[in-house]
Parts: sequence; structure tokens; C-alpha cells
Amino acid sequence: MLDIQKIRADFPILDEKINGKDLVYFDNAATTQKPLPVLNALANYYGHYNANIHRGIHHLAEKATSAFEASRKTIQKFLNARYTEEIIFTYGTTDGINLVAQTYGRAFLKEGDEIIISAMEHHSNIVPWQMLCEQNGCVLKVIPVNDDGELILEAYEKLLSGKTKFVSVVHVSNALGTINPVKYIIQKAHEVGAKVLIDGAQATSHLTIDVQDLDTDFYVFSAHKLYGPTGMGALYGKKELLEAMPPYRGGGEMIKEVTFEKTTYNELPYKFEAGTPNIADVIAVKTAIEYLDELGKENVAAYENELLAYATEQLLKIEGLKIIGQAKDKVSVISFVIEGIHPQDVGVILDQQGIAVRTGHHCTQPLMKRFGIPGTSRASFAVYNTKEEIDKLVLGIEKVKKMVL
Ligand code: PMP
Repeated sequence: MLDIQKIRADFPILDEKINGKDLVYFDNAATTQKPLPVLNALANYYGHYNANIHRGIHHLAEKATSAFEASRKTIQKFLNARYTEEIIFTYGTTDGINLVAQTYGRAFLKEGDEIIISAMEHHSNIVPWQMLCEQNGCVLKVIPVNDDGELILEAYEKLLSGKTKFVSVVHVSNALGTINPVKYIIQKAHEVGAKVLIDGAQATSHLTIDVQDLDTDFYVFSAHKLYGPTGMGALYGKKELLEAMPPYRGGGEMIKEVTFEKTTYNELPYKFEAGTPNIADVIAVKTAIEYLDELGKENVAAYENELLAYATEQLLKIEGLKIIGQAKDKVSVISFVIEGIHPQDVGVILDQQGIAVRTGHHCTQPLMKRFGIPGTSRASFAVYNTKEEIDKLVLGIEKVKKMVL
């Protein structure tokens, strides 16, 4: 059993007052708050061993390098990757997807090849593929979504053919909370010889990820949705694929030797890590993962599922409220609309009561179009949230209705 009050004490931001009220933070799908150990890891690096990595031989540089590389090892274990060099540090999920589209995509996909994404993708798993299609004449295909917010797998299977060369699908939808059957999706893609990228931005804080069991070719995530810092994430790629891919950005660190005639590139993972990275953030993500590990992923998931069930039950009692996306398999994200009230108004009036929810299209405009709505209000729960906070949300929504209707 988790001691939620003890966990809450690890997150100093939860003591903030917003408009004179206790903060109720329900925007965790946008970014989670950071526990003290993560804040301390950042301060400790800058305060005690700030140095650039890999290049120096002095004490601080060596200490920073070993902390930086220890983080890679932690992420390898976190994703159950086979090799440490299969973990590439990125600036986040968006950066990881762009990297794969612009390196694997440009090198190995050609005119007429088909790329499959889904109707519930975040813009960051749509636009990079559209850009690639414009560059090399690939064709984008889209797996449709049913009324419950689940992928229609029969339609996916119909889209698959010898022309399919790449499939890029979200593991957990940020807008609906749906958990997609990615293992099955990967297996089907492999049957036609396509490679697969899984967008794990919303999955890593809720689910246990095993890239070998999934047999995915690429997996990307962002640290800031995982109780870690912003501007940092990782790309997992199968070693043989990463080795075959050309580098992404050019610059320091990613080279073996530079002459004006010819440059040779560094080995994995450095080939994809040009320039000085977010050293402190990389180091701190190790602490974030260890924090989550100590709580126990299964305990966290069980508690969040309890919050999800409670919130779903309570919110559905509100007249005129409809939950968008009621997949059988979902994480603790609830997107809702209220008859006659614009989501923006819901967000503003809840904010006046100290309650932070996300409103709008959640960077999933095509998905909103699919449901025929401009946007939703979204409450997303993390391990530090409580049922009492959900009660405040319910009261808050009743207040919104009184004020607007
Ligand atoms: N994919 C999904 C499903 C997301 O939820 C997000 C973040 N909202 C992203 C991609 C992009 O992540 P980032 O902004 O950290 O690159």
C-alpha cells in the first residue's frame, strides 16, 4: 500500500496556493510534478559537479560523465533494452520521432512506400511523417478509431500490405487515455516487413515497458511525463537499425574524425548525440526512474486505476457530462465535455478554484474532429492525487454549470 500523504510531501509544488485555494493538479498528462529527489539531483549537479561530459579528464568532468552514462544504463533497464548503446538521449518524444523520420525515414523509405499512423496520434506523431512524405513521396495511411476511442484493428489489418514500410502508433493516448494493443500492432506490422515506432510519451509513467517483449523497432518517451525534467527524453532503437541509420544532427561529439575532405562518425549512441546535451536533466531522470521504482510501478498503476474508477463514477453522475473515450483498457486520463459549455470556460472557472485541468484539442486535432468536438476538458491523475481532490473537481464542475448555464 502506498502512503499517499508521504508521497505528497515529496512534491513541494503541491503546497502552492492558487487563487487562494490549495492547488489541485490534474494536468499530469501534460507534465507531471517533480519530487524532491529529482530537484535535489538537478541542484546537486549544478552545485557540486557541473562540467561538460566526455571531453574532460579532470575530476568534475569524469564525475559528470559517469553520472550521465549511469542514466543511460538506468533507462536501458527501465525499458529492458538489450544493449546500453540502444538508448539515445533526445530532447523528448517529439525529438525522437523527428530523429527516426529524418534518418531512418529519409534513408530507407521511398516514393510510394506507405506509413501507417492512427487517428489518435499526437501532432508530434503526425507532422514529422507528413514532412517526410513531402520530402520523399511516401503515403500516409490512418487507422481509424471507434466510438469508445479504441483503434479499429480490423481496419489496421486491411491497411497493411507489402507497400507498408513503417507503422508509428501511440502506446497510450494523451487525449483519451486508451492503452493500445501495441504488441499485436507490432507483430502484424512485422508480418508484412514494416518497421515500427511506438510513442510512449504517456505510457512510461503508468505501464511497465519491455521493448524486447514488444519486439518494437523504436520506442520514444519524454522524462517530464515521468516525474523527471523537461527537455529530456530517450529513443530506444534496435542496434542493427541504429547502426544502419545515418546521423541526425551534425556537430561535436557525434564524430570520430573531422577533416575538410571527409568526416567519419562516432559509434552508437554518440552518433546521434551532437552538441552538449541537457546534462543535469539526463542525470536527474535516473533519480526519477528510481523514485518510481521504489514506489513500485504495479502499486502506482493500481492506485491510479482506483482514482480512475472513482473519478469516472463521480463525474458520470453530473448531468450533461459526457466522457470522450471509454476504452476497456485505459490509464488515469478522463476527457470530458459538458453540454452547452465550452471547455475553455470549464478550465478558467476550475482554475479560479485552484484546480488545474487541460482544455482544448490536446495536440490531437484530427481526433477531436473524429468525435465532432472542438476540444475537451481533461483531468489526468498521478500517484500524488487523491479522491478528496476528485471530490473538489466534481464540486468545481457543478459550480461551472451554475455560473455558465
Ligand atoms: N506524444 C504524446 C502521446 C504526448 O502526450 C506528447 C506530449 N503531450 C508528445 C507525444 C510530445 O511530447 P514532448 O512534447 O515531450 O516532446
